[in-house]
Amino acid sequence: MGLLNRLVVGSAPLMPKFVIGRVASVYVAGDKLEDGLNLAKKLNSKGFTATLDLLGEEVSNRKETNKIREAYCDLLDGIANYGIDCNISLKLTALGLKFDEELCWDNLSVVLDKAREYNNFVRMDMEDSTVTDATIRMCKKGKKYYSKCGTVLQAYMHRTSDDIDNLNTHNANIRLCKGAYKESSKIAYQDYQEIRNNYMINAEKIMDAGIFIGLATHDEWIIQKLENLIIKKKYKKTKYEFQALSGVPIDSTLERLINSGHKVRYYIPYGPEWYAYSMRRMKENPDIWKHTLKAFFFRSKHRK
Ligand SMILES: Cc1cc2nc3c(=O)[nH]c(=O)nc-3n(C[C@H](O)[C@H](O)[C@H](O)COP(=O)(O)OP(=O)(O)OC[C@H]3O[C@@H](n4cnc5c(N)ncnc54)[C@H](O)[C@@H]3O)c2cc1C
Repeated sequence: MGLLNRLVVGSAPLMPKFVIGRVASVYVAGDKLEDGLNLAKKLNSKGFTATLDLLGEEVSNRKETNKIREAYCDLLDGIANYGIDCNISLKLTALGLKFDEELCWDNLSVVLDKAREYNNFVRMDMEDSTVTDATIRMCKKGKKYYSKCGTVLQAYMHRTSDDIDNLNTHNANIRLCKGAYKESSKIAYQDYQEIRNNYMINAEKIMDAGIFIGLATHDEWIIQKLENLIIKKKYKKTKYEFQALSGVPIDSTLERLINSGHKVRYYIPYGPEWYAYSMRRMKENPDIWKHTLKAFFFRSKHRK
């Protein structure tokens, strides 16, 4: 970790909460469910579809997982009541994945039942490599139970191509991102361009298999290449969408994508856990603060 990164990470816990709050507000819709729903509604009116993500990860007791499960059910109710074009994304460690896989499944199946009520879609975010296998297992089990769900693969992982094969079933649905956690060079690419190249290799593999792909990146180099690939492969509009994190200042790129007829989804985090979440993220990946400063000074106008 560079000196500047060490300095930022070391001093972040000493910063007043409101300072971290101001910075987090670039991405996070707000504390409450309604904050998330209102932002999704606003983004819908600008032509974007949305995904809501209740902030919080890795809990260590059953009671806490039940609370999160119920909050996700409330979220699905809220989306239906608002009549918005929006699905949900969740972290399986918040439903107990790390300490009790059966409990996690019990919780997940309740959320899937609720999604089924509204014919909505559930995405299982991919977390660090200690839970990659379990997340894929859970996704495959979920898929058999209710087909409108899917997970995420990370282009920095060496294993991603095999995971595509593993997930390549009827009606598969994969979000492809670069990967947000610090992983060892034994299992993950570290070089920026290598990760980009692996992103493109895997995106093409997913398309060749005819799988639905969520193209989750803000990297203009990749986005340009993906647009060309979509044209080259005549990939159907119903089989892909671009995805971006709400608050990242790439408005003009996303508007261009929409104007060219592509579907674009904004991923919107919300919830009272924003402080712990922001601090943890910064600790895990100190480079995040650089992105954050950029987003803070070059505000996305799509949130207004
Ligand atoms: C919709 C969505 C869902 C995701 N889900 C997961 C997941 O389940 N698991 C997982 O491990 N990772 C997830 N990620 C995060 C992803 O893995 C990357 O860490 C993140 O998107 C940064 O990579 P990038 O492709 O945007 O490229 P980068 O090279 O990191 O960024 C490209 C450009 O975008 C800017 N940028 C990128 N991120 C930000 C930011 N936060 N704020 C301001 N500017 C930024 C950079 O400054 C740079 O100019 C998700 C990302 C998105 C968009």
